[in-house]
Amino acid sequence: MPKAAQKTIQEPSRETKVCYEADVVVVGGGPGGHSAAIAAARNGAKTVLLERYGHLGGMATGGIVIQIPHMSDGGKDPIIAGLAMEWLERLDKMENGVLRPRNQDIGSSDPKLLKKWNRFMGNTINGKIKHTAWVDTELTKCMLNDMVEDAKIKLYLHSWGTQAIVDNGKVKGVIFESKSGRQAVLGKIIIDGTGDGDLLPSAGAEFDAYLDSTSRSSMLALVFRLGNCDYQKFCEFKETQPEKWQELVKGIADAAGTRLLPLPTPRNDVMWVNNWIPNLNCMNVEDLTTLEVEMRKMMRKGFAFLKKNVPTFENSFILDTASQTGTRGARRLVGEYVITKDDFAASKKFDDTIAVFPRMGPPSDKEVKHVYIPYRALVPAKIEGLLVAGRSFSSDYFANNMANLIPHCIAMGQAAGTGAALAVNKGVSPRKVDYKTLQKKLLEQGVPLPGVAIDKAK
Ligand SMILES: Cc1cc2nc3c(=O)[nH]c(=O)nc-3n(C[C@H](O)[C@H](O)[C@H](O)COP(=O)(O)OP(=O)(O)OC[C@H]3O[C@@H](n4cnc5c(N)ncnc54)[C@H](O)[C@@H]3O)c2cc1C
Repeated sequence: MPKAAQKTIQEPSRETKVCYEADVVVVGGGPGGHSAAIAAARNGAKTVLLERYGHLGGMATGGIVIQIPHMSDGGKDPIIAGLAMEWLERLDKMENGVLRPRNQDIGSSDPKLLKKWNRFMGNTINGKIKHTAWVDTELTKCMLNDMVEDAKIKLYLHSWGTQAIVDNGKVKGVIFESKSGRQAVLGKIIIDGTGDGDLLPSAGAEFDAYLDSTSRSSMLALVFRLGNCDYQKFCEFKETQPEKWQELVKGIADAAGTRLLPLPTPRNDVMWVNNWIPNLNCMNVEDLTTLEVEMRKMMRKGFAFLKKNVPTFENSFILDTASQTGTRGARRLVGEYVITKDDFAASKKFDDTIAVFPRMGPPSDKEVKHVYIPYRALVPAKIEGLLVAGRSFSSDYFANNMANLIPHCIAMGQAAGTGAALAVNKGVSPRKVDYKTLQKKLLEQGVPLPGVAIDKAK
């Protein structure tokens, strides 16, 4: 049967007020976009940041996915640092802002430390302490605001970027919707930090939206938190009765109809619950609606089982649910370079490497210690004036699935923002930025780039 033609309406054309002009416009204030804005402003660019919610931090705050993992590889030195380390150092100064091993304990094999940190997923590797941090969502929101204020960035919250303004193959601004109506911001360089690559279609940039149904990236989530827990007692129970716990894991999943994984926060009495619903697409509003409705049912059923059957949860309660839907993958830019599964498996280095990440798991060969991200993966293959920051970096679904965690997105955002400021400063297109100068700037900003040959003299 031929499909009925889609009914459409014609919208009247209109004039739109330009409310701000800057060197760099960043849309989306998550780990990628926030870091891009901070880096652009600190490197001298007049910067504006638009965010659809009333707070910054994206998934790391609004999504309540609060583990910042894989910042080291078992050795003493951080592999990811820069702005990611600055987040943690700022949070160290706030009570219960972050839970993490002390810097001097990273890489240690002290049995006492291992006993403590083995209780936290991702904090040890091969009998060594690994740098993974657990952050508080509300204090992180405050800390991210402080960074924006300190960097003198013009901030628009509650502002939903809806359309790239394109002129002759160059992106030169963004239209956004808010309670003030429809307005535009103009800039020399626009950075898409929406995570989902929301600006790519209207910018005319090529993108890939294929999601493999077996990958983590094809699953949506609605994370929630539980109050009045006792994480340490819960760990003691799991350690002393591992078989009973495995039985209960199955019981929770059967009751909820999906996997629910209780995880720690900086406070012993609060836990967050990670979850997964497969085969829902975050670029489809009907799927987003299904997720919100169905996951709340699953949460209630899973929580009822947990409270009744799992020791230490007897007095717990549902504290809150995430304001941001848990989306793990969406549009990926087709950039000047598309990173592939094979690149990661071969630990391929690039002349223009701007971020290095510890290996995160199969199928990379065990010999593969690190994976490398080239600047070209942030630059569209064709359109000018545009960069991406965060999980929409140019990659196949597999590489994206492995390297789109919070510290990765902070690192790529820092590189995008620094690259944008260099482009503005030199009056060139982002693709013409001298990558050696960019690498040197990143090193100066505390980005480690281990194993990358950098001509420091330049
Ligand atoms: C359930 C779940 C658990 C996860 N667990 C972890 C974990 O424990 N540790 C980890 O490191 N990673 C985890 N991840 C992955 C990680 O959170 C994300 O990949 C990462 O946050 C991506 O950062 P980003 O800046 O690219 O995007 P996001 O974090 O999604 O940030 C995008 C920002 O842009 C804003 N935005 C979006 N569209 C628009 C628009 N059109 N206009 C204006 N603003 C817009 C959003 O509101 C948001 O603030 C998890 C993901 C999920 C879904």
